[in-house]
Amino acid sequence: MDISLIIPAKDEEESIPELCQWISRVMTAHGFSYEVIFVDDGSTDGTWHQIKKISEANPVFKGIKFNRNFGKAAALQTGFRKAHGNVVITMDADLQDSPDEIPALYAMIAQQGYQIVSGWKKKRHDPISKTLPSKFFNWVVQRISGIYIHDFNCGLKAYDYIVTKNITIHGDMHRYIPVIAKWAGFTKITEKVVEHRERKYGFSKFGWQRLFSGFLDLLSITFVGKFRRKPMHFFGTMGLISFFLGTIFTLKLFWDKMDSLFISKIPLKRDITDQPLFYLALVAVVIGTQLFLTGFLAEMIATQSVSKRDYLVIDEVGLTGNKSNS
Ligand code: UDP
Ligand code: MG
Repeated sequence: MDISLIIPAKDEEESIPELCQWISRVMTAHGFSYEVIFVDDGSTDGTWHQIKKISEANPVFKGIKFNRNFGKAAALQTGFRKAHGNVVITMDADLQDSPDEIPALYAMIAQQGYQIVSGWKKKRHDPISKTLPSKFFNWVVQRISGIYIHDFNCGLKAYDYIVTKNITIHGDMHRYIPVIAKWAGFTKITEKVVEHRERKYGFSKFGWQRLFSGFLDLLSITFVGKFRRKPMHFFGTMGLISFFLGTIFTLKLFWDKMDSLFISKIPLKRDITDQPLFYLALVAVVIGTQLFLTGFLAEMIATQSVSKRDYLVIDEVGLTGNKSNS
């Protein structure tokens, strides 16, 4: 099969019939073999009814229904697991993305050898309250990830099959799929200018909260991406520094006390326990130990998850016939 289209939909009943007709038209005109997988992300309107009706009439249209709203990332992830096409394309259900882009996106993956092609809504039909924060957001993510594409959040993206089968996304992480993919080793990433259309029916499902959750996710993804496999490098370093400072402070206090008792015999101006340094030393040693223990626990958890299969083997030589192959 050439193409799997994955379309997350939350309350998009009016758009779906029109979208399906348009998709069929494009696919037939180019002679693609394809499937369309709708993921109904807890819609409360007639979205599922529409999907079922269309699927009964034409089985290339398929659907999965969540029992409640789990978010766009969960919807995409579920679609990725079910997809069969050599090229997997994701698209919003609200008719803001144009199915006319499909053939060009397909060609960039299938013929030019890219692993991810991300849409770029160069001319956007959205209010400025959305486009301005988005510009800033994209700028930050570019710097952090080293992936220089303009529009991380674009719903229209195309993937090589192997990418979609080897990345895991959850929460609001759909904004960071190129970043997650890059860390999994899929580095042939590019972008393509795509047409962005006005929302015809319904309303946007993401409000201003997307700013906060977007940035929290950015923090966690940066952190997790860097230290997931070696948490001790982070916690251990911080812990050692803190512990080291605490030890120096303690030695200094100890030295002052000895000096006043046995060497200079000049009594201390303040008791040890009245000095700020005493509390600093105490806190630094305790925090240092805590950080070190945290790093140790995180390291044990990371070791476990790596053994579960956290890596991707794409080729092997000389191993066929190995009985213990699992
Ligand atoms: N969507 C979803 N689950 C959600 C929110 C949105 O599946 O919790 C779908 C929605 O139906 C649409 C796509 O994700 O197909 C993009 O959402 P929307 O158009 O509201 O976002 P915007 O265009 O405002 O970024
Ligand atoms: Mg939209």
